[in-house]
Amino acid sequence: MSDQGLLDASGHVSAAGLAALQSAPPGRAPADLAAHLAGCGACQQKLLVASAPGPRRPPGRKPMGLAPSPGRTILLLVLTGAFVMLALWSLRWFAAP
Ligand SMILES: [Zn+2]
Repeated sequence: MSDQGLLDASGHVSAAGLAALQSAPPGRAPADLAAHLAGCGACQQKLLVASAPGPRRPPGRKPMGLAPSPGRTILLLVLTGAFVMLALWSLRWFAAP
């Protein structure tokens, strides 16, 4: 094999191989890599992901933010507790006299 290091131990395209594929002009990729890539869906997908621009998440979705501030968390807990108490208190209307 002439392109040592472009395929990893399991015979798939390595990180160095991906870099070589991306830097090679169209049609001039190393022959070993091209031959493997033609028949290996996993490596095709790896190359697509590696060469895709931009973020790796679907468009229109914000990244998960940090946890809300403690003040908002406490306020939400207090309000939730208040509504639970209100619901329990309202149950007395259904109690038999
Ligand atoms: Zn492969």
